[in-house]
Amino acid sequence: MKRLVILGGGESGVGTAILGKKKGYEVFVSDKGKIKEKYRKVLEHIGIDWEDEKHTESKILNADVVMKSPGIPDKVPLVLKLVAKGITVISEIEFASKYTDATIIGITGSNGKTTTTMLTNHILKEGGLNVGMAGNIGDSFAKMVAEKNIDFYVLEISSFQLDGIDEFKPHIAILTNITPDHLDRYDYKFENYVASKFRVAMNQTESDFLIYDADDEVIVDWLKNHPVKSQLVPFSIERQLDKGACLKNKNIRITTNTNTIEMTTDALALEGKHNLKNTMAASTVAKLVGIRKETIRQSITNFQGVEHRLEKVLKIGHVQYINDSKATNVNATYFALDSMSAPTVWIVGGVDKGNDYKELMPLVREKVKAIICLGLDNEKIKDAFGNVVDLMVETFAMSEAIKVAYKIAERGDTVLLSPACASFDLFENYEDRGNQFKEEIKNL
Ligand code: ADP
Repeated sequence: MKRLVILGGGESGVGTAILGKKKGYEVFVSDKGKIKEKYRKVLEHIGIDWEDEKHTESKILNADVVMKSPGIPDKVPLVLKLVAKGITVISEIEFASKYTDATIIGITGSNGKTTTTMLTNHILKEGGLNVGMAGNIGDSFAKMVAEKNIDFYVLEISSFQLDGIDEFKPHIAILTNITPDHLDRYDYKFENYVASKFRVAMNQTESDFLIYDADDEVIVDWLKNHPVKSQLVPFSIERQLDKGACLKNKNIRITTNTNTIEMTTDALALEGKHNLKNTMAASTVAKLVGIRKETIRQSITNFQGVEHRLEKVLKIGHVQYINDSKATNVNATYFALDSMSAPTVWIVGGVDKGNDYKELMPLVREKVKAIICLGLDNEKIKDAFGNVVDLMVETFAMSEAIKVAYKIAERGDTVLLSPACASFDLFENYEDRGNQFKEEIKNL
């Protein structure tokens, strides 16, 4: 019996344990932190050996294969030891994809993964396909492979998952965009991070597709120097393209090998330029798998949107409140500000991952009437924008930030939470931050 050791007892770890057990492995799960009760129960229920708050090396270094959860860096001593011993260390998508013949759609990028994944899943479902959505979103991919019989998987894939692949090959890959993020895990070298994202295409062949943002210079430059085998399907909101997706007289026009379709952008469910890109990418997948134009058009109109991403919360006294708590980097906030059409009271701040606020400057000058800092340390934001806006207030709790916003905002304004920063100085995570925002607004 082969021994599968799983490092990390979260969603992907426990999912992999379920699949590994089903496929006849002797499975051991080890987590240096505490395993959540709901996961412990699953492991016990199916009779899998596990430990938490430690790594017992004698039970790990005897593995035939190791699945490492994406949260564990490659550089931790235990992983280095495994690699030095020649033991294969892979990620969940690598392990699970071996056990399914389904068509895989793999979606990666710095921003827009979740939105594009959910929209793609939605269109394919509306098109009547038997679809499963997994990856960094919802249920574990491995668990779905173990328990369901799915024809099309739409997977949200992080660079950490891609670092642990060997043969994983999506039939259709989407690369939404690449901007600096998570550089701490890539030796602070942007090119390492870019290379990691492009691993999504590394095993693709001539019969596969890579959909990518042709307005993204990083992607276009990389492709020039590192060609891929798959068929390139670009999308652009700036240029006309013979192949792929672009804008033509306010229509989205998508051309593939077979034919061209056009759909109006009039009633798109998701607003903002970035979401137009996400919509193009998801619609292109739908076209490639043969969904009817009419179904695509309806689906991109009736999609319900995604919580914490430019989510319209409420209008109070003619002031629109928008929750973009998931904007944890400058690029995401750029698109949020870009899509604002009213004078904006902007709530920003948190844990800065090495932000450069320069690129936001023109948008802030044009659209922002007041800034509410919400973070433990707001110095960088004060330095960057102190002289740019008329009013800047520092706050240290969501309740305080919303009270201030309510006072400042006037009829017709928008209050936007788009922090450009991670949340863990004042909140548990971005969901907690977004939920507190919504709660405080409801209490106004
Ligand atoms: P991810 O899963 O990659 O983090 P999300 O869909 O959760 O992406 O969106 C994260 C943040 O980025 C949100 O603030 C959202 O409004 C913004 N965003 C979404 N799509 C894009 C895009 N194509 N380019 C830039 N920012 C985007």
